[in-house]
Amino acid sequence: MTQATLFARIVSGELPADIVYRDDLVTAFRDIRPLAPIHILIVPNRAIPTLADVSVGDEATLGRMLRVASALARQEGVAEDGYRVMINCRDHGGQEVYHLHLHLVGGRPLGPMLARSR
Ligand code: AMP
Repeated sequence: MTQATLFARIVSGELPADIVYRDDLVTAFRDIRPLAPIHILIVPNRAIPTLADVSVGDEATLGRMLRVASALARQEGVAEDGYRVMINCRDHGGQEVYHLHLHLVGGRPLGPMLARSR
């Protein structure tokens, strides 16, 4: 299996995942190796490899991804204290799975966004 098909197979139901939300445009499931008490991935149902590959036709999907992140943060009880959403893009962004996904991370203080290199 290539990495590109991994999240597509979760979206289709072929591979198991702890799915917390699904609609016509996006699916959200818990990260298998969570970095914090809450770590949810929100992915488009139609595979887009990276953020660098989006086009104007993807605006509804991108907007839905953010709105679902906000709703899930509320549902998971982290909205009041705050949380972080991240999209890693390609090699320098540290992207491992080439099916666009938004990380929703929270449930503890997350520290600085990036370590400063000197
Ligand atoms: P990224 O580095 O932004 O591409 O993030 C990929 C994320 O996918 C990582 O946080 C992994 O832990 C997560 N991941 C990989 N395989 C699975 C899986 N089968 N189910 C849930 N999360 C996964």
